Amino acid sequence: MTKKTWKVKGLLEAATGYLKKKEIHNPRLDAEVLLAHLLKVDRLNLYLNIEQPLTEKEVSGYRSLIQRRGLREPLQYITGVQEFWSLDFRVNSQVLIPRPETELLVGQALARIRTTAGFQTEGGKMLDLGTGCGAVAISLAKELPEARLWASDISAGALEIARINAERHRVSERIEFRQGDLWEPFINHDITFDIILSNPPYIASEDYDELPPEVRDYEPRLALDGGKEGMSYIEKIVKGGVDYLKEGGWLILEMAPEQTDEALRLTGQTNGYSERARIKDYSHRYRVVLARKAKSSGKTKMLASTSFPLSVKGAGI
Ligand code: GLN
Repeated sequence: MTKKTWKVKGLLEAATGYLKKKEIHNPRLDAEVLLAHLLKVDRLNLYLNIEQPLTEKEVSGYRSLIQRRGLREPLQYITGVQEFWSLDFRVNSQVLIPRPETELLVGQALARIRTTAGFQTEGGKMLDLGTGCGAVAISLAKELPEARLWASDISAGALEIARINAERHRVSERIEFRQGDLWEPFINHDITFDIILSNPPYIASEDYDELPPEVRDYEPRLALDGGKEGMSYIEKIVKGGVDYLKEGGWLILEMAPEQTDEALRLTGQTNGYSERARIKDYSHRYRVVLARKAKSSGKTKMLASTSFPLSVKGAGI
């Protein structure tokens, strides 16, 4: 019996059907992304060559990628890349896959630099606490050619990927990577920052089992589990932040919408912050809390909460 010759069209249809049965959200899209990845072409190219026959080797290679996705491994771990701030980042199971909402941290850092009167601008010092694959620090290094950045993570595996990404984006000479838990790499180092950013682990331990399998079974728990109510790192970062910020410097922290009330309360309770605010994400839910270290001792003042200025990127804000 002659073996079936698979063409792009039929193979995509078969893979889509398989992924659909496995309850994958976007079966057709994932089938296309994985075939394009395997053939090292753009997705559009698949449509331009929809009748192209594939070799047996290509078909078996594709089958194993589709099976991995069928087991709910995230697409990005299979392809090894995720786009963030219009840049490509290498990812593997050592790092959290960067999420679109985390771009808010980058946007807010740029907005603070450009709109805060008298604020240290381009040459500033910034820290990305818990950098993962390095997306936030590297995006800022690309946007601000004069800035110096520090990026830390408790995970050596994550820092390895972050360093690779910094090399690829040619900013490694401006980012100093340090390994350690939270503030630990900065104790006794005598650096204070104009801006500290963090997307800390903030999933409530109690909710962990309910996460989608892609997240729960494949992404690093270390990067996601924020302890009771997901607040344990947020609290330590808010409380410790004043010691590592310059006067007038900003702490910019991502969290879940329902955590922002408590985080704002904590900034009010901690001595040393003046202004504070929270910012909504693309789906209009509070996602980022900001707190500014007081210039001299002063009471905390609540800024009017704003939505994310969608035009911040490239708009010179
Ligand atoms: N945004 C991620 C999620 O909801 C959580 C990221 C984090 O804990 N830092 O899956």
